[in-house]
Amino acid sequence: MRLSNYLLPVTKETPADAQIVSHKLMLRAGLVRQTAAGIYAWLPLGLKVLRNIERIVREEQDKAGAVELLMPTIQSADLWRQSGRFDAYGPEMLRFVDRHDREMLYGPTNEEMITTLFRDAAKSYRDLPRTLYHIQWKFRDEVRPRFGVMRGREFLMKDAYSFDLDEAGLKKSYEAMFVAYLRTFARLGLQAVPVRAPTGPIGGDLSHEFHILADTGESALFYDAAIEDISREELLSADVSTIARLTGLYAMEEEEHAKVADCPVPPERLRTRRGIEVGHIFAFGTKYSAAMGLSVQTKDGGQVHPQMGSYGIGVSRLVGGIIEASHDESGIVWPEGVAPFAVGLINMRADDDKCAAAADSLYAKLNAAGVETLYDDRDERGGAKFATMDLIGLPWQLIVGPKGLERGVVELKNRRTGEREELSAESALARLSA
Ligand code: ATP
Ligand code: MG
Repeated sequence: MRLSNYLLPVTKETPADAQIVSHKLMLRAGLVRQTAAGIYAWLPLGLKVLRNIERIVREEQDKAGAVELLMPTIQSADLWRQSGRFDAYGPEMLRFVDRHDREMLYGPTNEEMITTLFRDAAKSYRDLPRTLYHIQWKFRDEVRPRFGVMRGREFLMKDAYSFDLDEAGLKKSYEAMFVAYLRTFARLGLQAVPVRAPTGPIGGDLSHEFHILADTGESALFYDAAIEDISREELLSADVSTIARLTGLYAMEEEEHAKVADCPVPPERLRTRRGIEVGHIFAFGTKYSAAMGLSVQTKDGGQVHPQMGSYGIGVSRLVGGIIEASHDESGIVWPEGVAPFAVGLINMRADDDKCAAAADSLYAKLNAAGVETLYDDRDERGGAKFATMDLIGLPWQLIVGPKGLERGVVELKNRRTGEREELSAESALARLSA
């Protein structure tokens, strides 16, 4: 992509309405713009990041055996009356009527809808177990939308729902999602701590939240320091024993921790830090299958309400969360898997024909090699171009200038380490397409 054809409204000034670093950087780097309280437009660069996160989330859901579908954002009030949640949900639910006076709502979550869809499709034990998911916008009329996309009113969520014949099956489905979450967050370059969560209004008994450790997090966590020692490799290959270790490790929110008489974590290993909730999984049993009239035939001819779980990931919140975890004083530092482009190509002198020809040729070759490149071909000062590239945080910067070209070299800069290296254009290409 040529920057001269792109939409990248970066700003030097720190926006006055942003309190935390990720919100400031998302505005400054031209990723999003607020269009109403807690509602955001995703500008081209922000959308690419959102799509990359979505892709990683989807790949790990698919690997875990979950099946993707797509449910609508708008739901009917009648559906929610059947579970009793239409009245119970409160003012966070956006309700409205259509032209025929039918009561509607913008979905804050999808347990009722998925349960009816599954009810109408599944008849017997052969149709189970199943885990279904979608990645769809939600609306919750939060009292205090804040911190940009981290607590928006409209936000993108991956929500999955599992259906099993019995509790043992539910436990298996829950553990499969637990592992998928660990892998997902590791691939997003994040260290996520699984926290035993209170189950709240959704009911049920088994629940974990996944938190990124960050000073700006809204929750105070108490956890076992052993969690920090788990390596990325271990997470990516998480097997049964790793899961057992992790689910057994002790992490809790402050209010929960205050309630337990004897903390099972030895004092020397007890850490406290703030966390951002990026995922939440629940096993709640038959609550919705019973309410929505979902039952299936068992092997011996009986009928059971399937055991269900639901599993959410805050896809749009993750964009902010990743920035909280990965930035420096110059801007964002994207982890490889989510970066909007792999390489930022800078032509230092757009008014110099030789320099422009060399940069154009590198751009064409990077494209041909399938390396996603943002090419700053604008007629701007070099300093401004460096500042923009640092701000938007692409993993690599490839700098083409007249002085280097005379000596037959270009410069390659690693955004995370700041290391710069001079090498031939061919070597740079080989390195970046490896
Ligand atoms: P929170 O305690 O932060 O309000 P929640 O418990 O209401 O979260 P869930 O209903 O479990 O959240 O939703 C699943 C995920 O969706 C959360 O883990 C979070 O990452 C994301 N999420 C929830 N509310 C918002 C929001 N207002 N803006 C952005 N993401 C959100
Ligand atoms: Mg909430």
